[in-house]
Amino acid sequence: MPTGAGKSVCYQIPAVFLPGITLVISPLISLMKDQVAALNQAGIPAAFLNSSLNSGQYRKALYFASQGRYKIIYVAPERLLTPAFLNFAQSMNISMIAVDEAHCVSQWGQNFRPSYLDIAEFAQKLPKRPILAAFTATATGPVKDDILHMLNLKDPKLLVTGFDRPNLYFEVQQPRDKMKAIQYYLEEHPGQSGIIYCQTRKETEEVAQALCEAGFPCTRYHAGLDDTERSRNQDDFQFDRVPLIAATSAFGMGINKSNVRFVIHYSLPQSLENYYQEAGRAGRDGAPAECILLFAPADIMVSKFLIECSNEDNPDQERRDLHRLNQMVDYCKTTACLRATILSYFGETSAGTCDNCSNCKGEWEDEDISQEAAKISKAIDAMPRAYGLNTVRDFLAGASTKKSGKRISITSKATAV
Ligand SMILES: [Zn+2]
Repeated sequence: MPTGAGKSVCYQIPAVFLPGITLVISPLISLMKDQVAALNQAGIPAAFLNSSLNSGQYRKALYFASQGRYKIIYVAPERLLTPAFLNFAQSMNISMIAVDEAHCVSQWGQNFRPSYLDIAEFAQKLPKRPILAAFTATATGPVKDDILHMLNLKDPKLLVTGFDRPNLYFEVQQPRDKMKAIQYYLEEHPGQSGIIYCQTRKETEEVAQALCEAGFPCTRYHAGLDDTERSRNQDDFQFDRVPLIAATSAFGMGINKSNVRFVIHYSLPQSLENYYQEAGRAGRDGAPAECILLFAPADIMVSKFLIECSNEDNPDQERRDLHRLNQMVDYCKTTACLRATILSYFGETSAGTCDNCSNCKGEWEDEDISQEAAKISKAIDAMPRAYGLNTVRDFLAGASTKKSGKRISITSKATAV
């Protein structure tokens, strides 16, 4: 199911009605905290067990859990096979294990987490096998197969709701000046709430500052800020005190803001999984929203560099990451329907046109320049020998240079090309 479609309620509601405890395995500490807070507020007793607790707090939580105080317990995958947790789990009536962000079990997916491979073994060590359910918003074909096999699901019921979010408009721009493109967009969409995703902390700082200076209030979010500023900035955005936030991909998990009207990508995401997840934070309320990607070919080199840095000891992972990056670049360059391109990446067939993306709306121009091209080829043929690009350009522009020796003018049209 796509981001925001309500995966959590698919295990939270059953958990209330099942006789025993439901364990939710989740990779993100921040997400656990938010969800547990929301459940407790709704009157459903829940707790989390992860590395944010000190050993005293952990023992206490485990004690309360063994007293049957909680219906739902969120746990980090690293805990599962530790003796203390395993002892606890074996002595309790566990009705269900819900695996959140299940794509983490697959090396083909983004964010592979080796400890997810312990889940199947953990389930096997329990006296009675509970219901096992797995959820993800980003499963390509190979990832789906891995979820089925690595989690050792038994005769599972497979539910794919469809990844399409019809209210989202997709666009790829290749502007000369990205900052100007953003400012132009903001002028056209005054007062709207939006996220601008950047690739690095430095870029995030620069974008936030440039927008503030240009008169567009914008806050910032990345992992390099201290906790106080990060949560303050997040709240400022969440509660509409500041309409814009420039952020790295660290921003967004567990954010539940429904009125985000646009998500602009200032630079290239590393995969379509990342892109769709981040862009999908727009329009959670179902009203029209826009997902704009600003593409510059030079971004590809930065992404490659980042991928190489993060995979120094893992050539296989690097190869897979680069493959995903290539598919992301294909998305930026395609003239086919952008929505269809995304959906087919996730293994879904679609109509092929959507009338709600920049390619379907024909917001790019097809220009026949075959006559000009023919003139250029002819001119190059007429040159006495092979010259470099600059000489050829001067030659076509009609400039007199020492190398060509004579002045030849083609047409102003050809010069423009
Ligand atoms: Zn389309």
